[in-house]
Amino acid sequence: MNIKIIQGDITTVSTEAIVNAANSSLLGGSGVDGAIHRKGGTAILEACKKIKAAQGKCAVGQAVITTAGKLPAQYVIHTVGPVWNDGGCEKVQLLSQCYENAMKLAINQHSNSIAFPCISTGIYKFPKELAASTAIQTILKFKDQKIIREVTFVCYESVDFEIYNQLIKTL
Ligand code: ADP
Repeated sequence: MNIKIIQGDITTVSTEAIVNAANSSLLGGSGVDGAIHRKGGTAILEACKKIKAAQGKCAVGQAVITTAGKLPAQYVIHTVGPVWNDGGCEKVQLLSQCYENAMKLAINQHSNSIAFPCISTGIYKFPKELAASTAIQTILKFKDQKIIREVTFVCYESVDFEIYNQLIKTL
């Protein structure tokens, strides 16, 4: 399994699956969520509404999969990151679950590639370095599986791009 770090906009990435930092409503929001729904078109929202009607809100740490609509990816995996607030181990655990559950859905879908944004590090204010180390450590748990061949961390902000590149060097 190859790990890539790039700086850019996840809506332009053509991995088989891309991950959305959604909220529990699954109905879209700001930041990366807004960009994915805006550029992917209404098919994504329609699919989210169906999921919500069938199973209710998406809990923090959980993930659901939909079409990617007009985006170059095939699927969007929507996961709900924790809001940092006062932080704590529980928040780290929940963020780790986001990465883990997204990877499991992608594996079930037989996706060979997946791209992640820096979940929870925007409006949800998770400390960026702790979020990046949690993301990388969780992804590394999947290093021996044979379905996903490439995991891309898509850093929108240069500060995140630097953090990921520093952390990956220490591995
Ligand atoms: P959260 O509510 O989980 O904090 P945000 O969307 O506010 O979600 O921020 C999560 C991360 O997504 C931030 O690092 C932000 O810079 C990044 N981001 C915003 N827009 C995009 C985009 N188009 N592609 C990739 N990452 C993005």
